Parts: sequence; structure tokens; C-alpha cells
Amino acid sequence: MVKSLLDDISDEIWFCYQCMMCKATCTIHHYTRREEDAPEPRVHLVELVRRGILDWNEISAEIILHCNLCGLCREWCASKQDISTIMTTARADVVNQGLAPDSVVSVDECLNNFKNAYGKPLDERFNGIPLAGSNINDAEVIYFIGCLSGYDRQEIPKAMIKILEAAGVKYTVLKGEEWCCGLPAYQLGLQDRAKEMSEHNAKFITATGVKTIIASCPGCARALKLEYPKWGTKLDVEVMHHTVFIKKLLDEGRLKLKKPLTKKLTYHDPCHLGRDMEIYDAPREILKQVSESEILEMFATREKALCCGSGGGYKLTNFEQASNMGSRITDEAAFVKADILVTACPLCKESFSKDASEKGLELKDIAELIIDSL
Ligand code: SF4
Ligand code: SF4
Repeated sequence: MVKSLLDDISDEIWFCYQCMMCKATCTIHHYTRREEDAPEPRVHLVELVRRGILDWNEISAEIILHCNLCGLCREWCASKQDISTIMTTARADVVNQGLAPDSVVSVDECLNNFKNAYGKPLDERFNGIPLAGSNINDAEVIYFIGCLSGYDRQEIPKAMIKILEAAGVKYTVLKGEEWCCGLPAYQLGLQDRAKEMSEHNAKFITATGVKTIIASCPGCARALKLEYPKWGTKLDVEVMHHTVFIKKLLDEGRLKLKKPLTKKLTYHDPCHLGRDMEIYDAPREILKQVSESEILEMFATREKALCCGSGGGYKLTNFEQASNMGSRITDEAAFVKADILVTACPLCKESFSKDASEKGLELKDIAELIIDSL
């Protein structure tokens, strides 16, 4: 019999006051209103499986997939239940017991065959992104483009490359050797696959000899910086999300803005950048330099920001619902009367793209705003 991983998290399944604040705030429950789609019932379920009172089966395995791992509930929980760790471990336990749902198996197959979770050919990664300036010689930074930006959200790396060139930053990319960072696999319980991805990336990053890596995707930044060490993957480089690097270029005077924007901006905090990496100020400080207008804050911001709906592998396993959930943020951005909803995550941008224009909103990554101001 395969050893259960759940005993490893018995300390994380902490005392619960049954206050149900988590249910009221859960980004998934907010949308589905299903009783089982809330933190407390999910943790209860995991504890019952841990004690041998219930087993994993098709229904219970599906229930634990209904979580964005966004961490919002933890901000409200009196006992600070770490739902992301509990759900991630439970998902890994389901996979280890050979009971992975079809949706997870299909992500695993994509990662195995194509090295990205979207099933896109590896040799088409970055096609259309002008990488002529990428050069390993004297490179100051590696630009880790990421899967979604590498295929479907290429406007973000295109903008980022213009920024690097405008600031005179010599850069290189991993080209065909950049694989998925591994975070989607890890979050869906595919820990061996995540480790395989991380070891491949770490090997090629290390071989460049470059000591700084920039990622446009907060999930990639989190994986490279915070998760690889936990997975036992050695990577001795400084990792920065592109907002932090852009702020640094502005502070050092290497990047100069010429045309302040007059449109009204509002900013959405991505979960991995905000709650996971505690980066809230760098993006806002950039916006203040880019815009002449006051930055409008939505109701749910910083530590209390809502997930776009796609986090935690949810877009990969519940595509339709994840796509619809982004409309809560576009509603808020329209409510505060912003002209532009600014993002710092390709997955958030993808989620908001469904209906932002219907609500009169322009949608831009922070890197795109910068090139509008150069
Ligand atoms: S991490 Fe997010 S989606 Fe998951 S239970 Fe907490 S609030 Fe809900
Ligand atoms: S917010 Fe925390 S303490 Fe309250 S019901 Fe949810 S898990 Fe329990």
C-alpha cells in the first residue's frame, strides 16, 4: 500500500473555530455557491481521509480540485489555516494513490509530451517574439518568458524586450530549453513531474552562468524563487518578477519615461505576486511614475485581492468556470471607473480578456504601459 502523504500535514490541519469567514470569502464558493466548495468542508474532508474514515474516490478527488490555491481564505481565517498547503498535499496524495482525475492525467500527458501544460509544440514556443537581441555573451539577466506568454500572450514579452533594449540591459533567453516552471504540475499534485521540470530549467539556467533571472509570470517567479528550494532543486540565482526589475531600472535612471499617461488606471494584485511573494508596492510605484492621474483602487486589493479565477491549476481542470470568474474583477474595475485595468500576470490578463472590452476597459500588462510611455 502506498504511504499516505496526509500525515505530513496533520499539524497544518489546525484548530477550526467554525466561524465560516473562509466560506464567505472563498473565491470559488463566491462563484459556485456549492456547500462543498469552501475551505472548511474541504479541510474537513482531508482530515476524514487522513483518519481513514473516508477514502479518496471520484467525488472526493474532484472536490479538492475546486480551489484556486489563492490563499485569500487564510487572510480571513482566525486560525490561519494554510489551505494551499493542505490542498496541494491532498492532491499529491490522490495522485500517489493512482486516483488522479482525467483532467489531471491529461495535464500530466501534456507536460510529458510538450513540456507545457497547454499541449503546444515545444518548437513553436516564442515563434513571433523578436529575440534577435538575446545573446548569452555578457548577458546581465536571463528573461524567463513562461508558457502562456511564450505562446498566447506574446504582447507581454514583446513589451518586456523593448524595455530591456530601451534600458540597455543585455539579456538572454533559454529558447527551446525553457520548459514549464513546474508550478501547475506541483499544484495539481504531480510532484514528480514538477521536479523533472524544475531540474531541467535549473540545469540550463545554471549553465548560462548568469546570476539574475526575470520572469513576467508571477507563478514562474514564485516557482523559481520559493518552490525550487522546497522541491530540492538547486538554483543559485536572484529571481525577480518583471515589476520589481522595471522599478529597479526606473530607480537607477536606466529607464526614462517621456510621456505620462492621462488615462485612469486600476491595478489587480495577482495571488502569486501579492499574497505569495508580498510584492504590492513595486507595481503601484511604477503606475505612479507612468500616470498623471490618481491610481484608483478596487474594493478587494493587496492582501485581500480576489483571485482572477485561474489559479491553482483551475483553468486547466475547470476551463469554463475559471474563464467566467475573471468578470468579478472586471466588474470592480468598471465600478471604480478606470480606463485601463492593469495586470502583472499573463494568466490574470487572459482571465480578464473575456469581457474587459465589453465593460469599456482597456486591459494591459504593466510592461505594456511602460512602452506606451517611452
Ligand atoms: S485558497 Fe482561494 S479558492 Fe481555495 S479555499 Fe481559499 S479562498 Fe477558496
Ligand atoms: S475561517 Fe478558519 S477558523 Fe473559520 S471556519 Fe474557516 S477554517 Fe475554520
